[in-house]
Amino acid sequence: MDKKDIRALSLEELKQFFTDRGDKSFRGKQVYEWLWHKVAYNFEQMTNLSKECRTMLEENFVINHVKIDKVQTSIDGTVKNAIRLYDGLLVESVLIPTDTRTTACVSSQVGCSFDCKFCATAKLKRMRNLKPDEIYDQVCVINQQSLVNHNHKLSNIVFMGMGEPLLNYKNVIASIDKITSEEGLGMSPKRITLSTSGVPKMIMKMADDDVKFNLAVSLHSAINEVRTRIMPFNEKFPLEDLAESLRHWYAKTQNKVTYEYIVWKGVNDRDIDIEALVDFAKIIPCKVNIIEYNYIGDDDFKQADPRTINKYMRALERNGIVVNLRKSRGEDIDAACGQLANKEELE
Ligand code: SAH
Repeated sequence: MDKKDIRALSLEELKQFFTDRGDKSFRGKQVYEWLWHKVAYNFEQMTNLSKECRTMLEENFVINHVKIDKVQTSIDGTVKNAIRLYDGLLVESVLIPTDTRTTACVSSQVGCSFDCKFCATAKLKRMRNLKPDEIYDQVCVINQQSLVNHNHKLSNIVFMGMGEPLLNYKNVIASIDKITSEEGLGMSPKRITLSTSGVPKMIMKMADDDVKFNLAVSLHSAINEVRTRIMPFNEKFPLEDLAESLRHWYAKTQNKVTYEYIVWKGVNDRDIDIEALVDFAKIIPCKVNIIEYNYIGDDDFKQADPRTINKYMRALERNGIVVNLRKSRGEDIDAACGQLANKEELE
């Protein structure tokens, strides 16, 4: 018989497991603390339990902790981890240090459900959703690296690794609950950003669920025709629906949105592209991050020249919209946005 993954159990279920065996429910709490707060990899580590109890747990359950398969470090200090899951699949998780803080960039799916033409992960197709504990483990791995490399805990988390988090909503939310809860890492949701390609129905749901973390939307074009060309799912989820969901998001959460935007030569570098973005950015309070395009071995996409990017920035600023230019990190090890594709494995 396959043993059950103990981390699929809630605190209540763990307590129940012990009381059903005539033991104290308090044991459930102890085990839960080991699993989540102290990040135990095996039952042997749970030293405040008796030997019999640990053996009994061993006989009934497994801990499917992720394993670090490979670590690569960039000249800029960015660290890319290839993370092996219990069923042998791989995802990538990245540690991005700046002077004062460290950010974990985590994956939410193996591969991706979407088909953005400029993204390396999209070429992998979606293999499966990650479970809450597999997302949580990535954060713990990077938190540990932050402590070792930088002497302080992880400060921020972005769901900008592989996958579309809003197409794995339930598990992503469950992982964030653990990350923010006192039994887990006790991190503030204000330090967490979920980045989505834009799934209107799920943005509505997130607003209704009154989530406390930040929202980023990968926009890349505010003109349907252009956006559908580079992000084909836009056909199904057009900008009008996205706009409506964002209005709902702001009305419910009073939290502004961040738009991620890449400017490509011959794709979205015309004046009407700029005007469309300025208009879209007026829908709800927002910030625009112009991000550098990272080459993924495809000559269809080339970053626009600095003059065009400047034009974008000035137009946004003239309209009172906050805009930042974001430099790529970890490009030399294919750890930058859109480059996560288990390349080492494929080679
Ligand atoms: N699916 C989610 C999260 C993963 S992608 C989303 O789309 O937001 C994380 C970010 O990397 C997105 O903003 C995405 O548009 C961007 N990105 C994808 N490919 C890229 C590339 N080649 N260069 C730079 N950024 C890229």
